[in-house]
Amino acid sequence: SELVIAIDGPSGVGKSTTSRALAERLGLAHLDTGAMYRAAAAAVDGCGVDPVADPQAVIELVRRARLEVSTVPGRDRVVIDGADVTARIREPRISAMVSKVSTIQPVRDLLIERMRQVVEQCGRRIVVEGRDITTVVCPDAEVRVLLVADPSVRVARRSAELKGAVSRGQVADQVIRRDRDDSVVASFEAPAPGVTVIDSTHLTPEQVVAAVIDLVPA
Ligand code: C5P
Repeated sequence: SELVIAIDGPSGVGKSTTSRALAERLGLAHLDTGAMYRAAAAAVDGCGVDPVADPQAVIELVRRARLEVSTVPGRDRVVIDGADVTARIREPRISAMVSKVSTIQPVRDLLIERMRQVVEQCGRRIVVEGRDITTVVCPDAEVRVLLVADPSVRVARRSAELKGAVSRGQVADQVIRRDRDDSVVASFEAPAPGVTVIDSTHLTPEQVVAAVIDLVPA
């Protein structure tokens, strides 16, 4: 039967780890919508377009772009216009500029349409993670979760993910800056009605997954 699990939360909160594990455990597809915004940003960056000076060029580029995302849990792959950008979208350069692309509303409208297509293509058996999935992309999802954690814990997790390539102070700056840049699209302080808040500050990844599975209707 249909089972859409919508997971929202800020960066470093453990969305991807949780979503992937959930999808594997429940036999669902997995869509990382952040990867779609990152792919759009990588294409914009690759063309030398300045998203602040020329948002119209960004909108045209995204409208024309052929975007393919893997929905196989654990096999992340993003291809835009034939270019595999899976590794590039994780570079600090893209993380630093992605909000400039994701805050252009027509870009969001185009990508949201694409996200909904993917959900349908997967027979509505999918874990979708992002910033506005519980509220805008899949407000009718069977399970809707807002993952939160103390900022210090999010910085520590993001640091561990980057395996010490970047100093803790720099990671803290990035996490705080992206919270602010993304605040126009995500209102994490006030979860929408029907959305369950899970605070992962003191939970293991396994406990977070179990807490979400508890919410799945019998
Ligand atoms: O989740 P991740 O950090 O990879 O997301 C990258 C960026 O994509 C976010 O910082 C945000 O600007 C944007 N995003 C968004 N809406 C989503 C998912 C991601 O605006 N649903």
